[in-house]
Amino acid sequence: MEPDMLATLLAAPFGGPDGAMTPPIQQSSLFSFDNYQAFEDRLAGLGDRPLYTRVQNPTVAAFEAMMAQAEQGEAAVAFASGMAAISATVLALVRHGDRIACVEHVYPDAWRLFEQVLRPFGVTTDYHPVAAMEHEPQRLAGARLVYLESPNSLMMQAMDLARVAAHARAAGAVSVVDNSWATPVLQNPLALGVDAVVHSASKYIGGHSDTVAGVAIANADIIGRIRALTLPLLGAKLGPFEAWLLVRGLRTLPARMARHGATATLIAGRLAHHPRVARVHAPGAGDAPGLRGRSGLMSIELAEGADAPRFVDALRLFRIGVSWGGFESLVMPARAVLRQAGPQNPARCFGVPPTLVRLSLGLEDPQDLWRDLAQALAAA
Ligand SMILES: *Cc1c(COP(=O)(O)O)cnc(C)c1O
Repeated sequence: MEPDMLATLLAAPFGGPDGAMTPPIQQSSLFSFDNYQAFEDRLAGLGDRPLYTRVQNPTVAAFEAMMAQAEQGEAAVAFASGMAAISATVLALVRHGDRIACVEHVYPDAWRLFEQVLRPFGVTTDYHPVAAMEHEPQRLAGARLVYLESPNSLMMQAMDLARVAAHARAAGAVSVVDNSWATPVLQNPLALGVDAVVHSASKYIGGHSDTVAGVAIANADIIGRIRALTLPLLGAKLGPFEAWLLVRGLRTLPARMARHGATATLIAGRLAHHPRVARVHAPGAGDAPGLRGRSGLMSIELAEGADAPRFVDALRLFRIGVSWGGFESLVMPARAVLRQAGPQNPARCFGVPPTLVRLSLGLEDPQDLWRDLAQALAAA
């Protein structure tokens, strides 16, 4: 979908009671019935009026409907976090003995889900470079599920999703892609042939660093499986208030993405010519078919002699922290991530360079951000 069309779609009033522009927050755990027959009919599967908020809630449904439209999917289901969306989607699609083919540099907690939860349950995962997934379809043979993220985490490598989705389909595998970086504004994986899209809505969709949430979008069959099994039985549902915040976030998503993208283009261009920067990873339109632009999340590799901790500490407008996609600029040095505690470290397994620094460019003035980066690079 063209960004302008999406902006109009997401700006449509909700059509609530009394001409309300926004959906009411239906903060109720259950929904009651007037008589026995109505209750029995609902349990028998007639109609879809709300029953219990673990499974269904009208405010959550408003967010789900907007996401299904934005991603051009038949249906969507919201979750308490991006990881809940990922785990519920994957667990609805694999069983004991299955194999997952996954792209390298996948989101670290998705890697931990595959290695520390699924592997002991008899689901194995192997990891492949972007280029291998695109050009060596034999790597996908025998996989039940192909798990993608484009661009991927920290290294920001974008892939040809249409090509990989076609390889997955030919191998008889279902494909899932994490589209958190691009949002529906910059990339529509379902239109490229991917079977299911997952998002951390904690990032750009919420957009205000105040909500942790997730969502999955796919055809009615896949979403039906999730709704029948892993949403109700793992129980990681989204709350009505968070759903309301996400509806609010979606209204401004296209405008915010345009601003993030313009800032990122300016900053990436200048960083690419800076002597203290060895490499810039800032994918945009043209770096992968189907990718329409740049978001505000990029990474750089500092040149030899520049010190990552000194660079990070010299920044004034960038706060140090995990997550991204909010109004505020953030910096996350890979060196600290490589030292993260735990039984296994995915950044180390994937070989993330210690000189890498991730930047989430917020909605501040782009010239102010550039001046801050330039003085911090000088100090590094
Ligand atoms: C943050 C993130 C997630 C996990 O989302 P949560 O909402 O924190 O559970 C998944 N994928 C990517 C690419 C992310 O950046």
